Amino acid sequence: MAHPPRKVEIDPSSGFCYGVVRAIRMAEDELKKGVLYSLGDIVHNEREVARLNGSGMRTVNREEFEQLHGVKALIRAHGEPPATYWTAEKNDIIIADATCPVVLNLQKKVHQAYIRSQQDGGQVVIYGKPGHAEVNGLVGQTEDAAVVIASEEETGKIDVLRPIYLFAQTTMTIAGLQRIREAIEKERTLQGSNAPFEVNDTVCRQVSNRETNLTLFARLHEVVVFVCGSKSSNGKALYEVCLSANPNSFMIAGATDLRKEWFNGADTVGVCGATSTPRWLMEEVAEKIKRLE
Ligand code: SF4
Repeated sequence: MAHPPRKVEIDPSSGFCYGVVRAIRMAEDELKKGVLYSLGDIVHNEREVARLNGSGMRTVNREEFEQLHGVKALIRAHGEPPATYWTAEKNDIIIADATCPVVLNLQKKVHQAYIRSQQDGGQVVIYGKPGHAEVNGLVGQTEDAAVVIASEEETGKIDVLRPIYLFAQTTMTIAGLQRIREAIEKERTLQGSNAPFEVNDTVCRQVSNRETNLTLFARLHEVVVFVCGSKSSNGKALYEVCLSANPNSFMIAGATDLRKEWFNGADTVGVCGATSTPRWLMEEVAEKIKRLE
């Protein structure tokens, strides 16, 4: 008797967040008018970058950007520090600014906190990944004075006797921010600090809710295929979420990475991805899985 066809479902809550969709739409609109440079990959997904580069976008790194003159360049959803805008002005580069409104708002808050910290001797602390584009954009709002910490083990870098203004990179987890807050509180108690401690929960809910959704989705399927670009830090974290919910989870960059043996005897397969994974790529993977025999 023929085996019933394998059921392959795409996670409805996976894929681009609002900020990335907006940036890509902006890039596509600009590309209709002419050449567009992008400072850094528009999204941490090689396939989507290749698609847009195929439409005429030119992705440049910071050194290359500084050599450009009289062109149009896109600032991606992560945002940029003020120095990038100064370079653009100096070199007659027209900016198509796709900084996510949520990130823009965070940049403003960080800048205001920095002004206050100059008056009260405090310090701006950013919980995030050092060197990440969004974090660089935030640190730039403080004339590079902000302290960046990636985990609670690094809270020793903060002087708890001075006022603290804590912010989170938008893609960090709420649980992580809570651990940082507790570690700082503990240190303040130890040192008997009465200095103000302001915690700004700036974790973006577009991504923080994904962990719960993904856990449920991964449990519902016998095999889970997580599609994401190798440069996505958010992707690696979300893949770990899948793996702990379902040990039969595999991470791939595209349909060519699929292995037939992963699906032996499996009737239900779930396809999901990071915030940087395009929907069309998940669809391509789902179609290939259906055809694997
Ligand atoms: S994760 Fe949130 S803040 Fe970051 S680009 Fe997406 S919508 Fe904007």
